[in-house]
Amino acid sequence: MRDLHALIIGAGIGGLTAALALQRAGCRVSVYEQVAELGEIGAGVTITPNACHVLNHLLGRALVDDICHVPLSGAVKHYLTGEILVDTERGDLPRQKYGANYCQVHRADLHAALAAAVAEHDPGCLHVDSTFTTLEESDNGISAIFTNGRQATGDVLIGCDGIRSEVRRNLWGADQPRFTGYIAWRGLVPTAKLDPAFLTPDSAAFAGPGRTFTRYKVRRGDLFNFVAFSSRAQWELESWSERAEIAEVTAEFADFAPEVQAILQAVPPDQCFKWGLFDRPPLSRWTRGRATLLGDASHPMTPFLAQGAAMAIEDGMVLARAVAAADDWPEALARYENARRERGTFVMLQSHVNARRIYSRDPDRLDRNSHRNAESLGLYDYNPLTVAV
Ligand SMILES: Cc1cc2nc3c(=O)[nH]c(=O)nc-3n(C[C@H](O)[C@H](O)[C@H](O)COP(=O)(O)OP(=O)(O)OC[C@H]3O[C@@H](n4cnc5c(N)ncnc54)[C@H](O)[C@@H]3O)c2cc1C
Repeated sequence: MRDLHALIIGAGIGGLTAALALQRAGCRVSVYEQVAELGEIGAGVTITPNACHVLNHLLGRALVDDICHVPLSGAVKHYLTGEILVDTERGDLPRQKYGANYCQVHRADLHAALAAAVAEHDPGCLHVDSTFTTLEESDNGISAIFTNGRQATGDVLIGCDGIRSEVRRNLWGADQPRFTGYIAWRGLVPTAKLDPAFLTPDSAAFAGPGRTFTRYKVRRGDLFNFVAFSSRAQWELESWSERAEIAEVTAEFADFAPEVQAILQAVPPDQCFKWGLFDRPPLSRWTRGRATLLGDASHPMTPFLAQGAAMAIEDGMVLARAVAAADDWPEALARYENARRERGTFVMLQSHVNARRIYSRDPDRLDRNSHRNAESLGLYDYNPLTVAV
């Protein structure tokens, strides 16, 4: 069905991917975002082949290749010595095996490319300063009501409003995000400030007992993104943008290899942030009437398989294909949920399993046979452009 009007709540990576894919399927979209100015946090995100298929399709491979960095290889290293324990070839290999790259990108660059493509299709469809609060459904359509008093009506409503989704609360009640016990610090370091001897391979994770430090290149290799994971018994804030003192991270990772120390010493003082990792229990249904959920609103997950954004991107593409294949909106939303809920829930639960494995592992016994990641779970075999909907 081509004449559908979709209201999309939330202009994160998931909402914008859905908007663009639906526009490409011939639908009209209106996107509503709470912030006053569109944008993303300064951080990297790994795009695995299963999601890269979608970006290549929607943005064009030339643009994706331009904004993404393809690491030649990745390594898991011993936290004390920096010795490589597991080494994974990347470069052209994922494209040869799966048909799309494994790459890493600055979130702001990906977000800007998606927003520009959506606006190019329909310059008036992106609405900022629009905080969704309630929905109202009638026989003829569904309305979104915003805190600024405005209202918008369409045929269907897609809740892409992240882990604290108001759409989810409207549909399925007020369960609260729960603290997982894991915390993280992140930052971006100019590559020019680092000794090249410390930066091979260009993507690495240092495995320590109860703590992990990952780093990889973004922005054509000009910046290194790092994320350092540890744990705490309690955590109040859930923002991804709380400033942290670099001394906190240095103290927490004081026993890690000299490479890690070199990166931490080079972090600009205003470029270190910390946050607690939250999630929510899996839902047994996403869709109710004319509304459904997508991305972190439907399956918020810990980052230990690097698949949260990838799942949101997959959701957006499959939603558009479900709409294109259906005769009416109930069939479209049913096809979407049937195609996506099982996979979204599986990846969410497996991210937990991997978190427990990562936090309890003994780096002295880690090798290729005991290492698990999204690829060993078979997640890269999925192609959202061709999967049955
Ligand atoms: C440390 C860390 C590392 C990660 N690394 C990776 C990785 O390497 N690879 C990967 O695939 N994933 C990764 N992820 C996960 C990924 O970032 C998220 O899963 C992804 O951003 C979810 O996208 P989304 O669009 O569903 O939600 P969000 O990005 O949260 O976007 C939601 C949008 O909705 C807006 N919004 C919220 N409420 C309202 C409202 N009431 N009205 C209007 N707008 C609203 C928000 O302002 C926001 O713009 C990582 C996550 C973390 C925490």
